[in-house]
Amino acid sequence: MYCSDYHTHSQLSPDSTAPLEQMARAAAEAGLAELCVTDHCDLLSLYGEPVDRYDWPPALAQYQEQAARFAGTVTLKLGLELGMAHLNPEASQVILDRPELDFVLGSVHNLCPEKGGTDFYYVPYPDSQACYAALDDYFTSMAALAATPYYDVLAHIIYPLRYMEVPVSLDRYSARIRAILRTAVENGKGMELNTWRGRTIEAWKPVLALYRECGGEIVTIGSDAHVPEGVGKGVREIQGLLADCGFRYVCTYDRRRPVFHKL
Ligand SMILES: [Zn+2]
Ligand SMILES: [Zn+2]
Repeated sequence: MYCSDYHTHSQLSPDSTAPLEQMARAAAEAGLAELCVTDHCDLLSLYGEPVDRYDWPPALAQYQEQAARFAGTVTLKLGLELGMAHLNPEASQVILDRPELDFVLGSVHNLCPEKGGTDFYYVPYPDSQACYAALDDYFTSMAALAATPYYDVLAHIIYPLRYMEVPVSLDRYSARIRAILRTAVENGKGMELNTWRGRTIEAWKPVLALYRECGGEIVTIGSDAHVPEGVGKGVREIQGLLADCGFRYVCTYDRRRPVFHKL
């Protein structure tokens, strides 16, 4: 089993304080072959203010130092989690114009600007009606993002569910999710299985079924760890689920190209 964690954050993300060295050490201890650091670059801030640049020099310096240090132990890759790229294609193009970049997660973390642009983490979900209103907005943004070239895989397609404590079902979104996944497949892009530090495994089954219907084959696996203790959490279990759902490969990336590893 080729184990990789392709969604992790370091101190260069606003919501993490972990040096990349600690994340890489945790990856080695968890027996991972590869770790991709995917720090945040969101084109909308947590409260909806527009952002149009990314500070690459510290990210490159941190990555180059640790990649050399861990060479032969765990392969480090340089990624980025780019949020809401569809809102600003020009900025996205400039931000991603980096030959050193291995991998880009495409994310939707916020309501659309017309609805305030707040991160789904801060949206109140008092009842199922509020949840579905947020999900309606979410999947509209996800469809717009999927049609852009500014990502390699769509990150955590079921993201807002993390924060919803009333029961919601994605059944009513099946057709929309299928269309989003089809767009990704047609553009040579993939989807991510995000374990959310080991907490989300089974919930991916219906999404994987839709992805298979679309002929999707590119799947990366990530824990979304923001601390060393989270690195690799759920990676092996979800790889088992991927195989059970009829998939043959898990992917890593090298300079924005997928590398297929047999399950
Ligand atoms: Zn995210
Ligand atoms: Zn993340």
